[in-house]
This record gives sequence, C-alpha cells and structure tokens, in this order.
Amino acid sequence: MRPSFLYPLFSGLSSLSGVGEKYERLLENLGICKVIDLLWHIPYSVNDRRYVAAIKQVKSGEINTLKIRVLRHIPPKSSKQPYQVYCEDEAGDRLVLVFFKIYSETINKSLPINDLRIVSGRVEYFKDHWQMSHPDYIVLPEEIWKIPEIEPIYGLTAGITNKFIYRLVHIAFTKMPLMMEWLDPNYQKSLALPSFNEALYKLHHPKGIEDLAPLSRARMRLAYDELLANQLSLALVRENIKRQKGRKIKGDGCFRRQILSRLSFKLTHAQQKVLSEIYEDQASEYRMLRLLQGDVGSGKTIVALLTMLNAVECGFQAAIMAPTEILAKQHYDTIAPLIEEIGLKTELLTGKIKGKHRREILDDLKAGKINILIGTHALFVEDVVFADLACVIIDEQHRFGVHQRLGFSDKGNCADVLVMTATPIPRTLFLTTYGDMEYSKIDELPIGRKPVDTRVMPLTKIKDLIVALRHKIESGEQIYWVCPLVEESEKVDLAAAKNRFEILSDIFGKTVGLVHGKMKEKEKNEIMERFKNGEIKLLVATTVIEVGVNVPQATVMIVEHAERFGLAQLHQLRGRVKRGFRPAICVLLYGYPLSDTAYKRLNIMRKTEDGFIIAEEDLKLRGGGEILGTKQSGGEQFLLAQMPEHEDLLFTAYKDAKMIISVDPTLSSPRGQALRNLLYLFERDQVVKTYLSG
Ligand code: ADP
Ligand code: MG
Repeated sequence: MRPSFLYPLFSGLSSLSGVGEKYERLLENLGICKVIDLLWHIPYSVNDRRYVAAIKQVKSGEINTLKIRVLRHIPPKSSKQPYQVYCEDEAGDRLVLVFFKIYSETINKSLPINDLRIVSGRVEYFKDHWQMSHPDYIVLPEEIWKIPEIEPIYGLTAGITNKFIYRLVHIAFTKMPLMMEWLDPNYQKSLALPSFNEALYKLHHPKGIEDLAPLSRARMRLAYDELLANQLSLALVRENIKRQKGRKIKGDGCFRRQILSRLSFKLTHAQQKVLSEIYEDQASEYRMLRLLQGDVGSGKTIVALLTMLNAVECGFQAAIMAPTEILAKQHYDTIAPLIEEIGLKTELLTGKIKGKHRREILDDLKAGKINILIGTHALFVEDVVFADLACVIIDEQHRFGVHQRLGFSDKGNCADVLVMTATPIPRTLFLTTYGDMEYSKIDELPIGRKPVDTRVMPLTKIKDLIVALRHKIESGEQIYWVCPLVEESEKVDLAAAKNRFEILSDIFGKTVGLVHGKMKEKEKNEIMERFKNGEIKLLVATTVIEVGVNVPQATVMIVEHAERFGLAQLHQLRGRVKRGFRPAICVLLYGYPLSDTAYKRLNIMRKTEDGFIIAEEDLKLRGGGEILGTKQSGGEQFLLAQMPEHEDLLFTAYKDAKMIISVDPTLSSPRGQALRNLLYLFERDQVVKTYLSG
C-alpha cells in the first residue's frame, strides 16, 4: 500500500482550491488528473519579464516589462475596434496598449490617466508605433514584485492559462512532502545532483531557459529518478521470475523430429542457434525468461512451436498468446494442421469464443487433453485453468509492454516464458522496455528471400500506379492497399478507405475487398479467408493489424499516406509481402505537403530493409526532442527522461538497479525504504504490491 504521506499527491485535482469540475476536465486534456501530474508538468520554456528601462530597448515580438505613464484613453467607435490606451515612457517614447472586448470601467480603473504603471506583455511594432495587446500584467510601480522576473511557460490547452497552471503548481508544492534520499550518495555527489525536492522546485522556478535543458542538474536528477524507477521495477519482475525454481524440461525430441521432417524447408542456422539457447534454458532448473527477437519473416513461429513441443514431449502443456484475434487465428491456422497430424491437440481461445464451445475447451484444458492452447490475452482470464502449463510464448509482434504481461505467466506454475518480438529494438529502448532480459536474435532470413523493390511516390501519380496494378492482378499476384488510420479521426479515415475501396472496385470489380477495424470479427475473417484463397486480389485495409496475416501470394504492398506511419509500422507492413519467393514491391505513396523529416524517413525505407537500421534511424530522426518510446511504438512513456541525452543515466540506472536488487532484494534497508517511495512516486504500485508486499 502506498504510504499515507503520499496520499495528497495522488488525490484528484478537486482537492486544490479553485479547481472545479470544468477545470478538472480541461486539465485532463493535458494529462493532468492528480496533484502529482501537475508537478510532472514541467515548463518547456521561460518568459523573461525582467524590467527594461526604455521603449527604445524593446525587441519586437518578445515579452517586455515597461514602466509607462498613461496619457489618454481612446474608446472604440464600433464593437469591432479595440480600446486603445496611449502611454509613454520616461524618454517620451510612445506605447499603445490595445484591448478587445473590454469594459471601459475596468480599464479606467487599472489605467487611470496620468498615473504610472508597470506593464508586461508581448510588444509589437505596428505601423508607426509600439503596441502591447492585452498586457499579461498591469501593476503599480511599487508592486513590481507581483511580476515574476522569469516566468515558466507550460504546455496549455484551450481554457487554461499559464497563470492558472502556475498558481496550481504552486499549491501542488504545498502538498509535496520532503522525500528521503534514495540516490547512492557517491553517485549523487559525482554528478552534483540536487535532492529530489530541490530538483522539482527548480524546474518549476527556472532562472533561465538553461535550467530546463535536458542536461541541467535538476532535469538530470529527475530523469535519473524516473529511469531508476523503471529499471528497478523491471529488475524486480525479472528477479522474482528467475529466482523461482522451474521445471527441467528436456524432451526426447519425438514430436519435434516429426514436425521437422514434415516441413518443406530446413531451419536456418540462426533458427538452430536460437533454439539451442532456448533448449538450454528449458533444461535448467530455473525458470526461463527470454526474449526472442527476429525481423518480420525470419521464422519465429516455427521456433515457438518447437519450444512448446519440447515441453509437450515431457507431458506438459504450452500456450501461445498473440496481441490480436487475427494473429491468434493465424498462429492456429499454421500450428493446428502440423501438430494434429502427429496426434496432438490444440485449440483457439479468444474473447469471441463463448458458451458451450468455450466450456468444452476449458474442460479439455483442465483435463490435460489440450497440448497447446493458442489465443489472445483471453487465455489468461481467471477461469482458464490448465492441467499443467509449463511453457508460455508471448507474441508481441510490434507491440512492447512486456512487464504487465509477464504477470500473466503466473497461470502456469513457474512456467517458462518466451517473449517474441518482430521489432528491432535499439539498445536504449530495449533496456527501458525489458530491462535485463536474456535474449536471442534470429539474425538471418531464410535463403531465397528476394529484396522488396521499394518505391516512394506522390499520391498524384496514383493513376499510373493503378495501370501497373492491372498487370499484376492479371498475372495472378495479390495486393494489399493500406489506408492510414489516425485514432483521433477514425471516422474520417474510415470514409477515406471506403472511398478508396469504391474507386478501386469501379476499376477492378469484384476482386477488390475491404477490411477495417469497425467490422465484426466474423466479417473480417471472411474477407481475410477470401483474400487467402485468391478470390479477392486487392485488399483495401485500414489498419496494420488487419494485414498481419500470412498470404504468400501477396506480393504488392501499397501504403497510402505513408508519411503518416511510423517507420517501424512501415517496416512491418513491407514485411507482409516478403514471405513468398516471388519478388515483391512496396509502394509508399505520400501526400503534400511533405516535411523534410517525413521525406527522409520514406527514403530510409527505400534504402534499407534491415529492421535494426530502420529502428535506429527512426529514433535519430525523431530527435532528442521526442521523448523515448512514443505511444505509437508502445514503449514506456517517460515524463522527464529523453534519449539520446539521458542515455548514460539509463545505463547507470540499469546497473544501479541490478546492484540494489542483489544486495537488498526486498528493499528493506533504509535506502530500500526510500526506493520504495520512489517506486510509488512513479506509480509502480503494482510491482511493489506483487513483489515487495510483506
Ligand atoms: P515471423 O518471424 O515474421 O513470425 P514466420 O514464422 O511467420 O515469420 O515465417 C515466415 C515464413 O517463412 C513462413 O511462411 C514460414 O513457413 C517460412 N519459414 C520459416 N522458417 C523458414 C526456413 N528456415 N526456410 C524457409 N522458410 C521458412
Ligand atoms: Mg509471426
């Protein structure tokens, strides 16, 4: 349980004075729901409101703070005109204050004629004079302290002003308890890092923009804390899985041999090497926890199957979990015919399977009649009980987020866990996502795969493209046509895909199909089936997921508005047409205007098929400004840490976490207690609860 002295930080915003329901909703748009979220809402820049002596010195377009004398008021002649107040400084230079939609009484009160005032706001040169519209501050000269000299600028949303956030942050600080230090004192000293409380305060009260830079001491301190919380929770998950004794699994190879002899191909060296690493884990007395990395089409499925069969040979059950129903079905379609032929039983279990059929599966599973269960996360709901589950494969595809899912593996009593991912992950992303997990990499594609001919062209050339497609279709090839789906405007995108479908249907008739996320599962499967058996030649699809299916005759991938996709996504999409042994084409269509970065990204796709290079380039192009692991890639979301600037901090946090867990695995020493607070601050409650309770 979270310690009570942290409660005020985790209560809702209505606990702050001046925040009602309306502001609660608005702040939610900024991702601010709790008091602590305000403190994490770090300013991104500063306004320098330090006093300038004279109008002659002001810079156009910038914030300036000036002492002026009010000369006269010019009320508007019509409601469209502004209210103007003429002023001058000591040197007699003119400044006009401009107000729209304001009552003259208000202005008369705050700017009486002949009085001196200090005004602060953005100043612009207009026609022949300087003007300031709607000053941010109007105060008496003796009240100049009311204007912050350096004012932090926060990310805002409609209806929320900077002053409002600033005020709330100020209140939030009153709820911030003094935290015990959790850093190693030597490390803290070596980098001259301030304390947690000091650092947080400093970031909200910068003395200049340099205080907010990624390498400022305050920012580094908090970035390190965030990374340490991340590494510590990953290390806790891992150590607790690894410390448990597992089963020693060493099958006699009978099922594996039968399967291998039925395959039309030989395993690649990479597949064999990876399998021997996995078999070794399985044979050891500790639980396996391994990540299997392999680019799209590198043949992970067969590796997963052989891993599971090793357990089945020893009389245990195995399960494989895919991220979507369609991918689960695809695994089932690949695996079922192979293993049923050798007398084993497998079933597909997804959320859609209900009633009698589901009960039968659950009964068979409990009775040990099912050897391999395939499904989505529905495999791990409470009523699914295995007779003896010894091996769990988690197919992550292009999604990350392993440590929530590792919890699921508790279904099996100390079952081995193999996580498969098709996403080549740069080292930093690997560490923050998986921590110190053992991994195997299939670093070679099956022989005979030809490179995909990738072309980048503007949408305006779509007519030429369609002419070329006719030729492809006539020669029996099949085509994916992917339309982008942006979450915010699902409707609009769906309409665009439907529209594309209609245009293509007019040209190619009944051989065109459409599949999208809003369809019922049954409808979707039906369309996919028709694409697989060649009835549909050209498949228009709205999402990446829908094209996760293996169709070897599909040789053309067209991505409309490719500039809207992430590189990793494009790489996955292209991988879909790489499975056959015929040369494949990938056409990336882009719309205007195309930004420089977008152009570069598409060009990377043209130049290389190496998923690793693509991932690294992607990270580079997104630049330091982008926080590591965006939602799109499904990686960890960081508030303060940013790569590559904080790469060193990450590596240190990784080592630190490892050391902490080795000397104090239950976090009970004084430093351990402080570290628990760190975990709570960064909302790792689940980890504390699961691994550190008691
Ligand atoms: P992924 O790693 O993307 O999951 P799959 O396991 O789906 O890849 O394999 C892609 C295709 O390659 C499948 O059709 C599979 O049968 C085939 N394949 C797998 N291993 C080999 C191999 N060693 N030689 C030739 N083809 C292979
Ligand atoms: Mg696969």
